[in-house]
Amino acid sequence: MSQFNYSEEFDFENRIVDTQETPEDVFDGDNPLRPKSFDDYVGQDKVKENLKIFIEAAKKRGEVLDHVLLYGPPGLGKTTLSAIIANELGVNIRITSGPAIEKPGDLASLLTNLNQGDVLFIDEIHRLNRSVEEILYPSMEDFAIDIITGKGQMAASYHLPLPKFTLVGATTRAGQLSAPLRDRFGVISRLELYSHEELAKIVTRSAGILGIEIDEKGALELASRSRGTPRIANRLLKRARDFAQVMSDGIITGEVAKIALDRLEIDSLGLDQNDRRMLLAMINNYGGGPVGLETLAAAIGEEAVTIEDVYEPYLMQIGFLNRTPRGRCVTTLAYEHLGIKSTVNSQQTLFEIN
Ligand code: ADP
Repeated sequence: MSQFNYSEEFDFENRIVDTQETPEDVFDGDNPLRPKSFDDYVGQDKVKENLKIFIEAAKKRGEVLDHVLLYGPPGLGKTTLSAIIANELGVNIRITSGPAIEKPGDLASLLTNLNQGDVLFIDEIHRLNRSVEEILYPSMEDFAIDIITGKGQMAASYHLPLPKFTLVGATTRAGQLSAPLRDRFGVISRLELYSHEELAKIVTRSAGILGIEIDEKGALELASRSRGTPRIANRLLKRARDFAQVMSDGIITGEVAKIALDRLEIDSLGLDQNDRRMLLAMINNYGGGPVGLETLAAAIGEEAVTIEDVYEPYLMQIGFLNRTPRGRCVTTLAYEHLGIKSTVNSQQTLFEIN
């Protein structure tokens, strides 16, 4: 079988089903589509119900909420949920991210500027560097940090008490968090990909906020092609609006949504060109797998973490990809969807699934 290098054909920059936030997702620095209360936050019922109880209990006791770790693929509502937590607690939120906190001093200045009870949200918390992590531990546990200034004989150590705060950490990969950091979170919640019905609700709510007319079938059509991800659902809604305005009377019906998404080359399951090319690269170059993550990343010119965080969760959720100890495998379901005759024998498939 011939070896293709698919990297040049990939268009990761302009990917409409990209789960990462793009400037288009945000209006004037504030995103009006972000729910501000639990009532507007669709789905994730188990996580929501638990958080509501923990928040109410903390408020009743007059204590700060325990530290919360939210994990799951990008675009599922981790940042949104952390703002809702702060809102429900009636406190301020400071938003930062792991890579933005470069030195222990950066973290110290963030922490000392918090007010009692505030929420500090650290996105991509698995990317904190070691030296920062080490001062985060005592801050989370004892609400104090020890700062050393000067060197040699001039060195002095200060014990600096901090206001009590709630750390909300978000990560796409809980497995990469160090054990001591993970152990310091009292609440650890995993966000799941959304169902079509939940995404249809989100699309309908967003349409209302943006003044877009959409019917039930239109909302469901967009929902079913959004890879279980609200951020993508909102983005598809905006693109479908363009088609509705130009092609019909501005209303997004099922028919309009279908035409728009077909034109954008997003198929009935929400796969775009890039997903299809990745699967095809695995099939054409590696007989459908098993293929190692790094090998696959090199073949398609994408970073391994992006494949793991962005592509795989959905492809695995719809049963198109299996992760085995020997590498990734394309399943017979994916072959069928792509209209390719599978060479995977049933015994191997059974082995991979188990
Ligand atoms: P993450 O932090 O997990 O990457 P965000 O919190 O930034 O995701 O969510 C992405 C967008 O999706 C938000 O701007 C919001 O409009 C929408 N969104 C996310 N979760 C929900 C939800 N449960 N209900 C309604 N909209 C949501």
